[in-house]
Amino acid sequence: MAIIVQKFGGSSVADAAKVNNVANRVVDTYRAGNSVVVVVSAQGDTTDDLIEKAHEINSSPSKREMDMLLASGEQISIALLAMAIEKIGCPVVSLTGWQAGFLTNSHAGNARIHKVDTERIMAELDQKKIVIVAGFQGLDKYDNITTLGRGGSDTSAVAIAAAIHADKCEIYTDVDGVYTADPRIVKSAKKLDEITYDEMLDLASLGANVLHNHSVEMAKKYGVKLEVKSSFEKIDGTIVKEAVSVEKMLIRGVARDNDVARIAIIGLEDKPGIAFKVFSLLASKNINVDVILQSIGREGKKDISFTVTKNNLNEALELLGAEKNALCYEDISHREDISKVSIVGAGMTNNPGVAAKMFEALYEAGINIHMISTSETKISVLVNVANAEKAVQAIHDKFLI
Ligand code: ADP
Ligand code: ASP
Ligand code: MG
Repeated sequence: MAIIVQKFGGSSVADAAKVNNVANRVVDTYRAGNSVVVVVSAQGDTTDDLIEKAHEINSSPSKREMDMLLASGEQISIALLAMAIEKIGCPVVSLTGWQAGFLTNSHAGNARIHKVDTERIMAELDQKKIVIVAGFQGLDKYDNITTLGRGGSDTSAVAIAAAIHADKCEIYTDVDGVYTADPRIVKSAKKLDEITYDEMLDLASLGANVLHNHSVEMAKKYGVKLEVKSSFEKIDGTIVKEAVSVEKMLIRGVARDNDVARIAIIGLEDKPGIAFKVFSLLASKNINVDVILQSIGREGKKDISFTVTKNNLNEALELLGAEKNALCYEDISHREDISKVSIVGAGMTNNPGVAAKMFEALYEAGINIHMISTSETKISVLVNVANAEKAVQAIHDKFLI
């Protein structure tokens, strides 16, 4: 008998027929003699619809009340799935994130899990029940409901798997595995049998939303065996693990992230401490900064450009605007119509020419690059959002066909 955690995403539970399909799959696993904990997301576009509802009332609601609202989506799914399993005739209980023992920090809208108190889950499993847990949600130390960031149900599933020492964590979704690029953009993308935690973490962090990046981080940290597979077809998916046996490819995949905004601060003083001032100001408000470009100094002045996520843009602009005199810059500009396109792979380490090949693909496709950022295992470029899918396709064709 094994302990198995299964997570089903929003599209897998989007309507009654799909909830019944999930119920049948879960019951099959249970009747095969396993202990099963199931994590579910909100149905279909529920989370987006709730965000829209909030904005009809208040264009900038507090993060606390947003979390209160968004957590309700997952609560609907757990009850419906439990009812579907009851109908089949299996013992089942649904638990919200807090009933399941999820304790998080207080970072509303993007909370990190501190701990999963497993007492309740284990007690229910001991009673031979199938346990259904609401993904994406927890409780902070002041008893406020928190959510884990968009796509966070994957992380809920991995956290439970780690806490109860599950034998496996299966992430069921609307594609049948992890591909070399989003199969909805690149028709010739290839399914990977296996991928390392590190490569998957890079892909997820760079926009491949098939897995939430924190879920991969946590799976690596606790050695959770992870498989991404289809909710609808019964075929093998992609295993995410420490080391893979497949041949080392130059790159493992291409990712795209449209949740990017670029801020340019023009005419800063070209002297020590300026970058420190700008970025410590943003860090003090937990604003994460990504690709950074600093111009060469000219007549004692320099420019600094960097990217933030779209939901941090206004706060970053307000902060920098309020400190204009202290930071001593001439002007500030921003744009949101950009996208970050990246390649990922351990195989590019010590392999000169990978960047040139990527830029050649973009040149041949007639796509201009705004900013570049590189590390040993990944290269990202910023391009106009209108060119992003074409860029992914061109780069994928260059390396992976
Ligand atoms: P769920 O609701 O099940 O959590 P998501 O929409 O969050 O599903 O993630 C699945 C989606 O991830 C797929 O429909 C696919 O479009 C997208 N995706 C992006 N990059 C990749 C990739 N490299 N491999 C597979 N799917 C990807
Ligand atoms: N329902 C949440 C979202 O749409 C969490 C998830 O799906 O993982 O982001
Ligand atoms: Mg998801």
